[in-house]
Amino acid sequence: MNNTISFYPGPSKVYPQVLPFLQEAYLKGILSLNHRSREFTAINIEAITALKQSLYIPDDYGVYFVSSATECWEIIAQSLTAESSTHVFNGAFGKKWFDYAQRLHPECKAVEFGIDELPPTAFGNTSLICLTQNETSNGTALDMNTLKTVRENNGDALIAVDATSSMAGIQLEFELADVWYASVQKCFGLPAGMAVLICSPKAIERAEDIDDNKHYNSLLNIHANGEKWQTTHTPNTLNIYLMSRLLPELPEIEVTNEIIEERASMWYDFIGQLNGIQLLVKESTTRSKTVIAVEADTETLEYIKSEARENNILLGRGYGDWLHKSFRIANFPAISDIEITMLKEFLTSVTKNL
Ligand SMILES: *Cc1c(COP(=O)(O)O)cnc(C)c1O
Repeated sequence: MNNTISFYPGPSKVYPQVLPFLQEAYLKGILSLNHRSREFTAINIEAITALKQSLYIPDDYGVYFVSSATECWEIIAQSLTAESSTHVFNGAFGKKWFDYAQRLHPECKAVEFGIDELPPTAFGNTSLICLTQNETSNGTALDMNTLKTVRENNGDALIAVDATSSMAGIQLEFELADVWYASVQKCFGLPAGMAVLICSPKAIERAEDIDDNKHYNSLLNIHANGEKWQTTHTPNTLNIYLMSRLLPELPEIEVTNEIIEERASMWYDFIGQLNGIQLLVKESTTRSKTVIAVEADTETLEYIKSEARENNILLGRGYGDWLHKSFRIANFPAISDIEITMLKEFLTSVTKNL
């Protein structure tokens, strides 16, 4: 029995409600289901319908299941980028997206900003703006007002948003952008190995203009299969099934959003008062609600991490530039109040003598 409590920001704690659905999937033969069968189509319809309802995705947006957020970076670069895209980022995931895009389109532009700053919101002449709504590497986030301003300031540009570590945790306003994606091993609290890709009608029109058909995962190909509630290749049927069963069991997203916001402000107040560690992000308005980044010197960090292991608590390691200077706490909805209390007690005692 694994009794480690995971605060890792992905892969992260899976909702305990998933366990009976895993067994059910086996017993119902879903693990061996042919993905061109009517039974698969029914499950796919249920999952997509549940997703649209529970996250308030606009009716005319398309929802597709792909393999990962990383694949979404590739799909956007292949199928939605005419010559170049503009990447606005302050951390490692936004930068990785830019790096992948740049390999296909050397003229891609990077607009970097600091973790305690709001990003610029007007990008001149660009046809595609790429934003990381929740930067998992450093615990910063863009709020919906910022996305709205970006929308207003950039005419006809397509906007693509990486919401991998916030979707299904906080309430997103999907009308504010054209492409959204997230892999499911973060706030969805599902097993790793699948991502959700969401596209506005304008994104699909852009894909038609660009007309990329060179890849198995060209967006037009994904969309054409999606129109028939199918997938281009054998998908992660188990995860699609788990999503179809789990989402209807969870509270409404506005309820989850409220819990996440309350817990985030609790974490920020609580950590702000401890000895020997600080919040990585000093400016409260740029802090993430779902990933809390904590700064400490390397020695303190090693001590806290090893004590945490002894106590069966898994903290997120630092990431990118902050690898040896920070740890991260996932504030994802699958985590329970009891687990949060245990981590608070642990942090209180481990920092007492720092
Ligand atoms: C985890 C993460 C990714 C990568 O997700 P994969 O499923 O491993 O491809 C991309 N972007 C952000 C913001 C993430 O948190």
